[in-house]
Amino acid sequence: GIPPVPPPALAPRRATRKIMVGPVAVGGGAPVSVQSMTTTLTADINATLQQIAALATAGCQIVRVAVPSADDVEALPAIARKSPIPVIADIHFQPRYVFAAIDAGCAAVRVNPGNIKKFDDKVGEIARAAAAAGTPIRIGVNAGSLDRRLLDKYGKPTAEALVESALWECSLFEEHGFHDIKISVKHNDPVVMIRAYRQLAEQCDYPLHLGVTEAGPAFQGTVKSAVAFGALLAEGIGDTIRVSLSAPPVEEVKVGQAILESLGLRERGLEIVSCPSCGRAQVDVYTLAEQVTAALDGFPVPLRVAVMGCVVNGPGEAREADLGVASGNGKGQIFVKGEVIKTVPESQIVETLVEEALRLADSMGAD
Ligand code: SF4
Repeated sequence: GIPPVPPPALAPRRATRKIMVGPVAVGGGAPVSVQSMTTTLTADINATLQQIAALATAGCQIVRVAVPSADDVEALPAIARKSPIPVIADIHFQPRYVFAAIDAGCAAVRVNPGNIKKFDDKVGEIARAAAAAGTPIRIGVNAGSLDRRLLDKYGKPTAEALVESALWECSLFEEHGFHDIKISVKHNDPVVMIRAYRQLAEQCDYPLHLGVTEAGPAFQGTVKSAVAFGALLAEGIGDTIRVSLSAPPVEEVKVGQAILESLGLRERGLEIVSCPSCGRAQVDVYTLAEQVTAALDGFPVPLRVAVMGCVVNGPGEAREADLGVASGNGKGQIFVKGEVIKTVPESQIVETLVEEALRLADSMGAD
């Protein structure tokens, strides 16, 4: 007979060096991790730890905190010690803060050695301190803060300019034998950003932190990030991601996870397969899908739940899911693993799906 068609696969992940951000491996074949950044004053230890806890609960694996002042530096030891996930200190310009962050037990430091070199050439000392502590460094080039020299050379922050800047920054550490690095080259235009990361991927073997900078409010930022990360990750490029939204950071984490889930790079949690509804619908599909999503939010095992507006395509789609409903005539046909197990009145659809989800979870051995 005809051999089965293999499932579609993404390109193999790009081979990179591996760095350890605390216990989280980045690059070298490790799963793509999701990170975010706190919006609290870092010096406010309690508020920052609270936000980190919320981010971790949402699935954030690495968190970055801004360190613009001496008060923030002082908060780092407590934050690094009490955070449930590794903390990266984000530092510009001040070498003193970099040493302090390493001493504080931060899992990594984001710093651009080009800035340090300009003001106070302590790059060698930083490389030695970071190497001694096993602390990796993220070099983060942003279109908005591109080096003057490269801005003059290229006229604007092109992909080439971002890449040249990043590799030059890396060379400042490489001169001191330091290679424990990951890189980002962020731009607010996904097209420039994609080109920059592709070039970078060809020219070095450092793990890459993907980000679209100043991506915008939630809707626009989500679309831009999903498009840019999707293109790159599908080519095997990208080892850790940060979605930037002008929205609470927990939203960034949710979007980041959803991007990885949709590419099959992270196990899907709850997946609602709901139909767009049409003139055939015999139930308010939008409301029903929202109610089912809310009722199963945070469910402990991955589930694919179909919510279909009618019995035309409904049963077919619902059959492909772990569980589902096809509505019609004020009733819902409930499917579990492809079998119609019962028909319930519309008002009982949500509670029946939840009951069946719990039963499935039990049979899968979740607590
Ligand atoms: Fe329309 Fe039914 Fe398809 Fe939903 S499942 S889009 S209601 S045909």
